[in-house]
Amino acid sequence: MICRAAAADAPRTAGCRRFALPAVAWLLALLAGPAWLAAQGTNGTAAETSAAFDGERAYGYLKAICEIGPRYSGSAGMARQQEMLKAHFERQGAKVTLQQFQARHPITGNPVAMANLIAEFHPERRERILLCAHYDTRPFPDRDRRNPLGTFIGANDGASGVAVLMELGQFMADLPGELGVDFVLFDGEELVYRDTDRYFLGSEYFSAEYARGALGVRYRWGVLLDMVGDADLQIFQERYSLSIRQVRPLVRSIWETARQVGVHEFIPRPKHTVRDDHVPLNQIARIPTCNIIDFDYPHWHTEQDVPQRCSADSLGKVGRVMLHWLRAGEK
Ligand code: ZN
Repeated sequence: MICRAAAADAPRTAGCRRFALPAVAWLLALLAGPAWLAAQGTNGTAAETSAAFDGERAYGYLKAICEIGPRYSGSAGMARQQEMLKAHFERQGAKVTLQQFQARHPITGNPVAMANLIAEFHPERRERILLCAHYDTRPFPDRDRRNPLGTFIGANDGASGVAVLMELGQFMADLPGELGVDFVLFDGEELVYRDTDRYFLGSEYFSAEYARGALGVRYRWGVLLDMVGDADLQIFQERYSLSIRQVRPLVRSIWETARQVGVHEFIPRPKHTVRDDHVPLNQIARIPTCNIIDFDYPHWHTEQDVPQRCSADSLGKVGRVMLHWLRAGEK
């Protein structure tokens, strides 16, 4: 992802401001949203007595992903990761598909085979929630002062969101009520070598397919998990998410859920503006989607973005909030 409100790189920051959205685009979401959110958040007792999200197991998944090595788009590591995740989510009862497409390599111009991984739980349920993360890693740790052409593993920036979904998956088959859930892992979030290269290739493709009705589903809400594993976790509300009127109730509901379950690392105040995979989901697909991201991470895009900088505790906290939120939405 790119762009922070307080960042020194003016063009990126200026780029953030073009996201003003016509309110008329959100009528459907407005109609569908408040009822669920109103019911949500009032009744969490049953959820707390149900099986709990295991942060240690999620951290094990994070390490397993990182052991594959770099997972940039089109790499052997990405192919291995896809194999592992497909088997994993199928074991958890999901219907897994790879949404394949092609992109052009930003340096060579050659075609790159890309694929978003979609894991559907309860595909027969009409009301659906989209939980997503990117699963590609940046080709190089270009913010690493010592070794910008070194090896980038992306423990927090790549693996953390995937690891939370891998642990969440085991609870989805038993998710009661009428809510279906899709996990979507985006490829091509940052097949980026230069400032001018395009981000969000996977979420753009997915959003365009969704907008033309090719997926045959409709999502009430989307939640993007990115950089949620930092051992020093502080998750402020992300300003682009808050800039969209139809997304604000979603943000409030998730941070309220965090308060209820005692996860104080979700801080109910805005901080950074982040351009990330939620931008195409909001702008092209018109799915009201918020970004859950801890953007205060000194190891961002460096060789130091490794499992030791992340923790089971942080993954567990984010996972517990998401699981509680999903279960409460059933009430
Ligand atoms: Zn990144």
